[in-house]
Amino acid sequence: MNLACSTHPQTWDVIVAGGGTAGAIAGIAAARAGARVLVIEAQGSLGGTGTNAWVTPLMRNVSAGENLNRGLTDELKARLLARGDGAVDPGGNDNWFNPEGMKFVLEQMLLEAGGEVLYHTHIVQPFLTDGENSRRITSLVIHNKGGLQALEATVFIDATGDADLATRAGVPFHAGDEDGVHQAMSLRFTVAGVDTARLCAFLNENGQGQTGENFLHFWMVWGKNSTLEPLFRGAVEGGVLLERDGDYFQGFSIPGRPGEISFNCPRIRAELHDGTDPWQLSAAQTDGREAIDRLTAFCRAYLPGCEAAFIGVVAPMVGVRESRRIVGEYTLTLADILDCARFPDTICRNHYPVDIHSVKGGAKLLHERDGTAPYFAKDAYHEIPYRAIVPIGMVNLLVPGRAASSTFEAQSAIRVQQNCHSMGEAAGIAAAWAARDLGGRVRDVNVDALQTDLRSRGGRV
Ligand SMILES: Cc1cc2nc3c(=O)[nH]c(=O)nc-3n(C[C@H](O)[C@H](O)[C@H](O)COP(=O)(O)OP(=O)(O)OC[C@H]3O[C@@H](n4cnc5c(N)ncnc54)[C@H](O)[C@@H]3O)c2cc1C
Repeated sequence: MNLACSTHPQTWDVIVAGGGTAGAIAGIAAARAGARVLVIEAQGSLGGTGTNAWVTPLMRNVSAGENLNRGLTDELKARLLARGDGAVDPGGNDNWFNPEGMKFVLEQMLLEAGGEVLYHTHIVQPFLTDGENSRRITSLVIHNKGGLQALEATVFIDATGDADLATRAGVPFHAGDEDGVHQAMSLRFTVAGVDTARLCAFLNENGQGQTGENFLHFWMVWGKNSTLEPLFRGAVEGGVLLERDGDYFQGFSIPGRPGEISFNCPRIRAELHDGTDPWQLSAAQTDGREAIDRLTAFCRAYLPGCEAAFIGVVAPMVGVRESRRIVGEYTLTLADILDCARFPDTICRNHYPVDIHSVKGGAKLLHERDGTAPYFAKDAYHEIPYRAIVPIGMVNLLVPGRAASSTFEAQSAIRVQQNCHSMGEAAGIAAAWAARDLGGRVRDVNVDALQTDLRSRGGRV
């Protein structure tokens, strides 16, 4: 391979592939732990699905009334709040945020910590050495406007969400459900120019009670008794919407962006479900944009307050809920979730439910099938072990985020942003320590010390 030269130093303690939800936090945590860190990101900003796929708000992850993800997540929320890009609703939910503000906050936190970022850059292929039963990544080939370059690090963190680096290093993985079918993708968007006071009043009068005009949340899914279903039926019959536009529709307010609503839809058509297939991903973008035109027309015609609405943002990234999941030293299962499994090497607590947006039909909250499991107690939670982010067969690689080692069902619960933050924070500190003291061997990290460190930073582990 002919690799271009650069005058920039080519060696780091920790390289983070993918500066998304888990990766940006991992980079910040590793830099604060004293490592020389480079975050490599395909887009031009940090935050990944939470910012460039416009996934807002953070889903609540609460047990006994307390947020389970603290540490850097708390700092993120405090900084968002301070600049008007975060908000706490009257019910105490502090998860509302503006994705554009999140990009600024994450970048500031990384740079303040001394981390570096390389935007508009794709990871291509790792160079490996074969150890006895264990492979080590020595360098990583990247591609950007400078051509191909190889960068070296002692430890690598794969936070691409799709396990791009891990799988190219030969880590085995699973993808999709028992039939290889993935969760639905969505192309999120906003409409601006909304009279939110009128929309709020309409929703209150039509069975979707609201906390206030700045904290709107409304939804419609066929057959789930949404009071908006008759409007959708009328719009389908009137040729404004297609039947599948009602498979999932959900809108949220955004702090710092008055008059704008963020939509957790449209769902991409069912045959386009693999976010690692570039042709499907591309087709998802065009399919989503067509649906956004239909949904915007629906809002204008059917939702009071939206008559003058226009498209505000179309997310630059298609939202991929699930793609590849690595095989790690431990694989989290549905039984672990229902049984509230505890692990000696825990790095995160979760009580967010199993939440499968199935292309086979509807949204499924699978845990509803067993209402007697320990999971259903108000103070319940399960843990995510460090081993779930340690891929088998590799010396110096960690994989936090939605590609962590889990079954299809378990992934649907742990994938939410705050868990990705917590996994990323643990991965960043562990990577920094492994680079400093352990020749990169992530399995040798003292997890008791890691837990103590996370707790000292507010973490609940
Ligand atoms: C439509 C949708 C709705 C959701 N709703 C919610 C919600 O309401 N609340 C909630 O908390 N969670 C929600 N989730 C889940 C959550 O947002 C994601 O699971 C989580 O953000 C994933 O984080 P991650 O760090 O694993 O990946 P990402 O945040 O996607 O980060 C991956 C990063 O790696 C970069 N990257 C990828 N490949 C490469 C490469 N080869 N080279 C360089 N860079 C690369 C990407 O650009 C990206 O920045 C939703 C997800 C989707 C898709």
